[in-house]
Amino acid sequence: MSNPTIGFIGLGIMGRPMTKNLLKAGFTVIGYDLFPAGIEEVVAAGAKAGTSIADVTKRSDVIITMLPDTPDVEKVALGPDGVMANIKPGSLYIDMSTVSPTVAEQIGKLAGEKGVEALDAPVSGGDVGAQKGTLSIMVGGTEAAFERALPVFAPMGKATLCGKHGAGQVVKACNQILVGVTIAGVAEALTLGAKAGVDPAKIVQVLGGGLARCGILENRGQRIVSRDFNPGFRCRLHYKDMRIIMAAGQAYGVPLMVSSIVHDLFKRMIVAGRGEYDHTGLITAVEEMAGIEVKKHEE
Ligand code: NAD
Repeated sequence: MSNPTIGFIGLGIMGRPMTKNLLKAGFTVIGYDLFPAGIEEVVAAGAKAGTSIADVTKRSDVIITMLPDTPDVEKVALGPDGVMANIKPGSLYIDMSTVSPTVAEQIGKLAGEKGVEALDAPVSGGDVGAQKGTLSIMVGGTEAAFERALPVFAPMGKATLCGKHGAGQVVKACNQILVGVTIAGVAEALTLGAKAGVDPAKIVQVLGGGLARCGILENRGQRIVSRDFNPGFRCRLHYKDMRIIMAAGQAYGVPLMVSSIVHDLFKRMIVAGRGEYDHTGLITAVEEMAGIEVKKHEE
């Protein structure tokens, strides 16, 4: 498959920069989204416009989806007008959305029955990683399909084969436990410090130099204390991930007590109408309980 044509479905916060990086690497990309704005943006960057899922699938050798949630992927991949119903023999389908591992397994099985290849390949690294092409890509599927997909993954980030179909989504669930729990921990630490009268910007700076330093503090610490909660990664999507995680805990018989509290904190954000906030905006749920707003001190 030399220089395959790539169909990219789902041109949101992540899909747009990922498409642009594929274009920069010299691939022909056909973009499609439910909303024209995403298509127009990637067409301006050199992509071709798709008119439907079926249209993109029929015109492409590799089809990538980057959609919000499990039902979206079920509809787009498995629906009557979807990718699997229209995929050409020999094509490769890669779902890079974060969805349920069992759906990823189902897609892998169906692909096998149809004689095509599929990979689950969710990512970590956020909108910044998508823009810089430095995503961590967690892949589930066969070795052969993984090898075939490596040149396509390369402009978007670093891919690692984690195991069979669904394994990429399992590893992504593990990732989202750590990210969610860390955000909640940072939120509690800053809320405590701020209510006790310390400048939260100072706390971020000092903690970033010690054992507590982490990606959340490094990438988002200043944005949290500046109260910039523009997404990034939306609370409603992290809540979706926490639901996937809790279902995985049920399926595999693993108590996830810390995760269950973080699940409920994200649920609080949805109930409060703040699902569109960046996930670092979770601090507002902690602040409410403490009766304080965490803000950096004036210079
Ligand atoms: P988003 O909501 O910004 O983008 C999703 C896009 O999919 C939207 O443009 C939407 O219109 C489109 N879409 C939905 N249904 C469609 C359909 N039937 N046909 C065509 N297009 C359709 O979401 P995002 O932030 O880009 O996230 C996408 C996925 O990546 C999610 O599963 C998310 O959990 C995961 N993810 C996001 C981030 C992040 O920082 N934003 C990081 C890692 C992983």
